[in-house]
Amino acid sequence: MSTLKIYEYPESVLRQKAKRIEKITPEIKQKLSDMLETMYLDDGVGLAANQVGLLERLVVIDVSHEKDDPKPLKMINPEIIKHSDETSEGEEGCLSLPDQSAVVERYDTVTVRYMDEEGMEHTIEGKGLLSVALQHELDHLEGKLFIDRISPLKRNIIIRKLRKDKRRN
Ligand SMILES: [Zn+2]
Repeated sequence: MSTLKIYEYPESVLRQKAKRIEKITPEIKQKLSDMLETMYLDDGVGLAANQVGLLERLVVIDVSHEKDDPKPLKMINPEIIKHSDETSEGEEGCLSLPDQSAVVERYDTVTVRYMDEEGMEHTIEGKGLLSVALQHELDHLEGKLFIDRISPLKRNIIIRKLRKDKRRN
């Protein structure tokens, strides 16, 4: 396993749509393992392929918070097939927008269909943090970021801060 470079805003790969996986190869499995390792290293709860520079519909998530008892989800071609009418607001951050966060509105519950690395199809229902993580990561596959879901004023504040941090480095 190896860790991967995280692409940060404003890299263009974060703004592009990822392509469906047609065939699960050893390379795909390797990418999912590397993405998971990268996510754990950076203390994230989710990571989408765009964030490591790949335009493929791959997502890893682990909201278990238990370092000794990880519950990783490796998802291929995930899609939301159902969501609640109810929404809630919660604070979100993103490894591609370092040190930034904002309150984002999301569906309370989402049902997601995906394929595992053995090609088996699964359906999971996400509530709470899992629901937020699923919506956040699936947005990445569409080239969307959490800052697209907040007011232009708040978005501009975050973008300005990111530019300032970049200049300092
Ligand atoms: Zn993100």
